[in-house]
Amino acid sequence: MKITSIDIIKLAAAVNAADMKPVIVRVNSDEGIYGLGESGLAISSSSEASFAECVEFAQRIIGMDPFNTEAIWEFLHKKTFWAISNGPVVMSAISAIDTALWDLKARALNVPLYVLLGGKQRSRLRAYASQLQFGWGTDVFRFGNSDPKFFAEMAQRAVAEGYNAIKANVISMGADGQAVPSTEAIGLQTRANRRAFEARLSAMRDAVGSDVDIILENHCGTDLVSAVDFARMAEPYDILFLEEAASPMRPQAFKLLSERTNIPLATGERTYTRWGFLPLIKDGALALIQPDIGICGGISEVKKICDLAQLYDVGMQMHVCCSPISLAIALQVEAAIPNFSIHEHHMSSTLPCVTEMGLYDYQPVDGYFTVPDLPGIGQELSEKALREAEIVTVR
Ligand code: MG
Repeated sequence: MKITSIDIIKLAAAVNAADMKPVIVRVNSDEGIYGLGESGLAISSSSEASFAECVEFAQRIIGMDPFNTEAIWEFLHKKTFWAISNGPVVMSAISAIDTALWDLKARALNVPLYVLLGGKQRSRLRAYASQLQFGWGTDVFRFGNSDPKFFAEMAQRAVAEGYNAIKANVISMGADGQAVPSTEAIGLQTRANRRAFEARLSAMRDAVGSDVDIILENHCGTDLVSAVDFARMAEPYDILFLEEAASPMRPQAFKLLSERTNIPLATGERTYTRWGFLPLIKDGALALIQPDIGICGGISEVKKICDLAQLYDVGMQMHVCCSPISLAIALQVEAAIPNFSIHEHHMSSTLPCVTEMGLYDYQPVDGYFTVPDLPGIGQELSEKALREAEIVTVR
């Protein structure tokens, strides 16, 4: 089999969902079978750069055999000069292409992708309702919520849908209702802000009771000093794990934080390849890592990262914050790996402006996903998404 062309597809932006601009790669073969992958750089910045990188990398693999995923991964990683040192843009292109190749292989064999990853270890995936600070439900997505009552109401909404785990960022807004400047999120915290953060957390715990897990998300806003302060405040609220409490560029911070708090720690959505993850996990500070398949290196690499983490008793949660293509890809990997922990269901993945990008709308029922059994990743772009997309075809 040969790769004959590659479509790089820029979907129309979902402006109501964190200004999401997904980039999809579709690899086409001489046997008429194709595969889909997605870049992980849909939100905030860098989508345009990822699109251009996907076009450039696609030009280098036309004519190759799409079944040679390992050889193509090594070629793109070693022979494109910059990829060896990782970085989100180059790794997003390798990730999108690699994942599309795996999808193509699974479609060619007419099996779900999880079969090629070793088979399904579970049919149901526990999910948590993620990023409640933006709201939960199609009527509430917005930035800048700071009222503890809002956090409590959103937590109750998720639990009413059957979720037994929720996640929120309670530190992005200060006591004054304004965004906390990055310079004030580090170091010693003001008493007013500490009280505001605790009030939101306390409101959520009161709202959901003791049987629901609460996950806290700091989005790298804190440094070691403020993270220690924050974690000690949060400890009495029985937290499942604390995410991105420090920069992933400083693995030692997680080790030091783990010695100062009993809350399990997690990070990884801004880390790439096994070389990036090993320094984070080898000293035992993390309970969980959260690679994004769209930037960590794709299916080839995420499987290796999962196996590496298993050596250190570290659990896995895929970071999912893109189109329904990425969601479907994550479900396939999570079905197969030994150390699956929990699935992140981002609130944007419930919004029609995002779900309508996919042919199928995969949503959890009573807080659990059922793993799709369709060939490949089990997802297609919708006609509407393709109609509104900008597509560059490399031949
Ligand atoms: Mg996160």
